[in-house]
Parts: sequence; structure tokens; C-alpha cells
Amino acid sequence: MISLGLEDKVVFVTGGNRGIGAATVALLEHLGAKVAYTHRSDRINPYGMAIAADVTNGSAMEQVVEKIEQTLGSIYGVVANAGITRDNFFPKQTTSDWDAVIDTNLKGVYHTLMPVIPKMYERGEGSVVCISSISGERGNVGQTNYAASKAGLIGLTKTLALEAARYGVRANVVAPGFIDTEMLQSVPDKVKQRILSEVPLRRFGKPEEVAWAVAFLLSPIASSYVTGTVLRVNGACHT
Ligand code: NDP
Repeated sequence: MISLGLEDKVVFVTGGNRGIGAATVALLEHLGAKVAYTHRSDRINPYGMAIAADVTNGSAMEQVVEKIEQTLGSIYGVVANAGITRDNFFPKQTTSDWDAVIDTNLKGVYHTLMPVIPKMYERGEGSVVCISSISGERGNVGQTNYAASKAGLIGLTKTLALEAARYGVRANVVAPGFIDTEMLQSVPDKVKQRILSEVPLRRFGKPEEVAWAVAFLLSPIASSYVTGTVLRVNGACHT
């Protein structure tokens, strides 16, 4: 039997209750990892260890990391997945929507990684996967705030990869295209039909298809020489 080497590895996923995060938690558990995830809404994902926490709260995220390490052991992998959209055309965007998106999608990753990275450096191992978006690479109408946060995340991760390499820690990005989750369901039907007509594979992606890309990048076997990269999972919607 071929293994991804994730058996008994402790992996922390933010926003693991729904969508891509939930699929990732489930897959990693099936691959033998010990998984913990954060949630804000009532727990619906039965897999993994669930901890209620908001990624915009730095001290809460410090406590989450402590709790995971005390309960499951040293964190090997982090999947910074929690994210939101607040779409509108640029002049119509509100400052509160701008702040909410940046605080969650970009600063939330800062809060997630800050307590973990020093521990990974001390141990000389670790793998970080940040979930960006096709919008962060090529832009998307109505998403200046979201695209800015997701492009920023690519810059953060590529830089982290450069700094972390000497400590044996890897950092990569998964950039999904249009994936069938509640986030996509909030898009008006007319817009969804237009998006679909532009996807060469002629369908939206499934959360599980993103989860497999995450598992690959977490794997100390399959992706041991892969760091600082952006892995697109987008049905050929390339820039
Ligand atoms: P969903 O809306 O289905 O799930 C988002 C998850 O993020 C939820 O579990 C939610 O928690 C969590 N979350 C949101 N804000 C916070 C917060 N402040 N603190 C903690 N958790 C939070 O979205 P997807 O699964 O579709 O998206 C997952 C990631 O993938 C996001 O980063 C998104 O930007 C990205 N992405 C999605 C694409 C898509 O087409 N769906 C395309 C490209 C990227 P709760 O359930 O508790 O509210």
C-alpha cells in the first residue's frame, strides 16, 4: 500500500466545518492524520477535533494552537482555509466589507500561522498550505477586496517559503477556481451560468478535488521538494 506519510501527523485546518475545509478534514483523517479544525457556526463536520474560534482573534488562535498541541501533539501541518466574500463593484464597496475580508482572509492567516511557525522551526519540520483563489491571480469582477486578500496571501506564502526553507518547513498555496460550496451558492444564478460557460472542464469543482491537492502539498513524501508554489485546481481557467 502506498502512503502519503500523513499517518499520525497532526494537522490544523481553519474553517473546517463546511465546504473545502470540511472535505479536507475528512480526507486527511481518512489518510490517517490527527486533524483539528476551527469552526464558528454550530459543528456539522463530524470528522476531526472541533474547536470554536474566529481567525480574526489573535489571542484565540494562540489558545487554539496550545489546545491542539496539548491534546493531539505537535502540529505538523496547517491548512489556512477560512475565508469569506463580501462582493460588490469597487465604488459601492463599504469600508466594513473591505475590512472584514482583509481581516479574515489575510490577517486571519497571520493570526493562524504566527503561533505555529516558531514551533515548526524549532522542530525542523512542517508544511503550510494556504487556500488562495483564482481571483487572487487574475482578478474577478466584484471582488477587489477578496482578490486583494487572496493575492496578498500568495505573496505571504511565497515569502514564508523562502524564509522557512532553512528550517525544513515548506509553504505552498492552493488556488481553487470555482468550487461548489456555500460560498459559490451565494453568487446569483445568472453570474454562475456565465462563470460556468467560461470553465473549460464545463463544471464547477468539488471540495474533495481541492482537498486532494492540499493532501499532496502537506505530504512529506509526495511533495517533499515542492515549496513556494501555487497549485491551481480550476478546471483549466488559467490566467
Ligand atoms: P464556505 O463559505 O463553504 O466555508 C468557509 C469556511 O470558512 C467556513 O467553515 C467558515 O466557518 C470559515 N470561516 C469564515 N470566516 C471565518 C472566521 N472569521 N474564523 C473562522 N472561520 C471562518 O467556503 P469555501 O469552502 O468555498 O471556501 C474555503 C476557502 O476556499 C476560502 O478561503 C475561500 O476563499 C477559498 N476559495 C473558495 C472558492 C469557491 O469557489 N468556493 C474558490 C477559491 C477559493 P463557519 O462555518 O463557522 O462560518
